[in-house]
Amino acid sequence: MQTRNPPDKHLNLNVRGMGASATVAINERSNELRAQGRRIFKLGLGQSPFPVPARVVRALQDHAHEKDYLPVTGLGALKEAIAGYTRRITGVQRERADVLVGPGSKELMFLLQLVYYGDLVVPTPAWVSYAPQARIIGRAVRLIPSSADNGWRVTPEGFERICAEDVGRPRVVILNYPSNPTGGTYKLEELRALARVAQKHRVVLLSDEIYGEVHHKGQHVSIARFYPEGTIISNGLSKWCGAGGWRLGYFVFPPSLRWLLDAMAAAASETYTSTSAPIQHAAVTAFEPHADIEHYLVQSRRILRALGRWVWRRMSKAGISVHEPAGAFYLFPDFEAHRESLARRGVRTAPELCERLLEETGVAMLPGTVFGRPSEELTARLAYVDFDGTAALAAADSEPEGRLDEPFLRAHCGDVLEAIERACAWARG
Ligand code: PLP
Repeated sequence: MQTRNPPDKHLNLNVRGMGASATVAINERSNELRAQGRRIFKLGLGQSPFPVPARVVRALQDHAHEKDYLPVTGLGALKEAIAGYTRRITGVQRERADVLVGPGSKELMFLLQLVYYGDLVVPTPAWVSYAPQARIIGRAVRLIPSSADNGWRVTPEGFERICAEDVGRPRVVILNYPSNPTGGTYKLEELRALARVAQKHRVVLLSDEIYGEVHHKGQHVSIARFYPEGTIISNGLSKWCGAGGWRLGYFVFPPSLRWLLDAMAAAASETYTSTSAPIQHAAVTAFEPHADIEHYLVQSRRILRALGRWVWRRMSKAGISVHEPAGAFYLFPDFEAHRESLARRGVRTAPELCERLLEETGVAMLPGTVFGRPSEELTARLAYVDFDGTAALAAADSEPEGRLDEPFLRAHCGDVLEAIERACAWARG
């Protein structure tokens, strides 16, 4: 069957020339190559390797019959559970009325930018979708520079410089830690200093804490503690609960921003109506305190910590510059030290690096460009998630407490280790 490309002129200017999100695209390309019989190491898509905890799956089974539309801001019991969870893990006093539930935090971020008239300020490197969302809506994007030297973290000075440019200008600032793409996080005093800048300029601060529970030592601290009146906490089930495909996210607002919650709810009511009913009922369980869920988290963190550190060490030994991860399941290596050897093989940009790496070794990563880095910088993001999380969790249970060793990683995360060894050998040429 012949398909006709629609004429460009019928597309909204803001979306002309846009392709699918880079993370989705790398996943599709990896699947294509796998279907052709190639051995592919999927370090491209950032999806949790772990299963949804059994208790939460059972709750979904128990609620499969729930068929009614739910309130646009979310199921009351779920909002209550999320408010309690927020108080428990952040120490910030929030109530059920402060919560907005949505079909993934990504959708809520889009709605926030849609209803709030202001610039989007994000660090670089930053998660792939913040800036494209702003572009679709027609908002200006400002990047807060950061550098490898300080672990790609936003500094209060860099943040202040952007805010001081046009004092009083409305802005949504997104801070994400533990970070996708770097795996880094902030120290307490750094959070305090950033909060002081946000407070001074009264920005709307969206704290994207989707990886908060996968801080490798379980020590995540929300910046909302230091700027409670202006911070919206963003979180969901996707990363810590292994349930990306369930599509459940939420924002927790300070009472002073209730008008923003209401505006987003109005826009939601005219678009997706409400989030899937069975999923919301099941999510109540996920946000309640349960010993088995805590155990699941402890073991997930233990595996990610051991694996992340192994990858960091191995790449560093191969001369690839990369920071020790603190959370999430990403690293952001810079292949600069191998520039000459790569250039001899015609590799001069980050997209070329990732393309050739995939073609020649089967290892999929995403180029730094999709996280807002310049093309000539040889950075890439890797997600160390290509292993069977169910089997690894079960195996970790029979290991004595403490650090998991290399034989454990070889046995249960062997493909990730092999992928990294291939990438290191390839970089050296
Ligand atoms: N924020 C970050 C930093 C992410 O990496 C992701 C997903 O990859 C999201 C937000 C969106 O998560 P979800 O829409 O599944 O809640």
